[in-house]
Amino acid sequence: MPATTIMCPDGVSHPIEKCLANKGCRLYERCAPLPYLRLISFDRKFRGVTPSASGNGPLMIGLKATLPYTIDPDNRAFAALGTTVHGRMADKGLTFNVLSEETLSDDQSRGIADLLEKDEYAESGYLLTDYKTSGSFAVAKWLGIFVEKRDVPIKDDKGQEVLLKSGKNKGKVKTKQERLIKQSDDHIKKHEIVLQLNRYRIFFEKNGFPINKMRAYAIPRDGGTYIAKNRGILRNGYFIPVPRLPDNEVLSYYSTLQNEVDEFLKTGKARLCNEWETWGGNRCLNYCEIAEDCKDICREDGLKWPGDNKVPK
Ligand code: SF4
Repeated sequence: MPATTIMCPDGVSHPIEKCLANKGCRLYERCAPLPYLRLISFDRKFRGVTPSASGNGPLMIGLKATLPYTIDPDNRAFAALGTTVHGRMADKGLTFNVLSEETLSDDQSRGIADLLEKDEYAESGYLLTDYKTSGSFAVAKWLGIFVEKRDVPIKDDKGQEVLLKSGKNKGKVKTKQERLIKQSDDHIKKHEIVLQLNRYRIFFEKNGFPINKMRAYAIPRDGGTYIAKNRGILRNGYFIPVPRLPDNEVLSYYSTLQNEVDEFLKTGKARLCNEWETWGGNRCLNYCEIAEDCKDICREDGLKWPGDNKVPK
């Protein structure tokens, strides 16, 4: 079920229709322009698990599909930017004769791939690309970029190490913290993207479009800021390479998720989203629009809510 209420800046929510029709807003004027409110209040009706659902737990998918929930215009700002980028890129795709925002389906699922273009670097085959407008934190994770901190000795003008002159560490070398930006494949975390792109690949290959290469194109939405640079994200656009997974692994992931959601729709019960799906509980506390209903379920079933004891954003 799409969101039915919208959260006003004063913390009180009211029906989206009233907000859009300007009947019932208690504030002097709307908290955002009408086109923005229309854009952010649109949610696709649930019609089954899609490739982009990778990394979402069955409980979250099931609750959002069945219960009314409240959206906060602030929290959807970046999604609005992402939607706009996707729309403009799709327009340009038409100009350059590539497949953009193509709706794909088979007997198991349906989804919309962002971009399929001929592989200009090969004699045949295609390149499959998905656009991501995420924060630098996510982009760094997908690229395996991380910060290593270490203490280094402070040296004087003559190159001699400076010693502490007082305190309990008197006589020891004075140090400062150095931050090193590093990259390691061991730090790459992009499984949700890998599953999503591979699912699109399967759709295309079933329809006679062999895929040579898959990648996401990430535009860090906070690119150029102090915090993004501190995380090692120095550019405003990155390709994220996506490896090929065996078809059965991808199809089995999505059919298991679909079965779990079906079970929820039938019984109202699903497992709690796991560590990967909840981003270690951080998503529950800070980013899940259905968190209050999930908390109620946890209370009723005597379960620990994964967002407990997490740090608010
Ligand atoms: S609050 Fe957490 S566990 Fe609950 S539905 Fe949302 S993401 Fe899943």
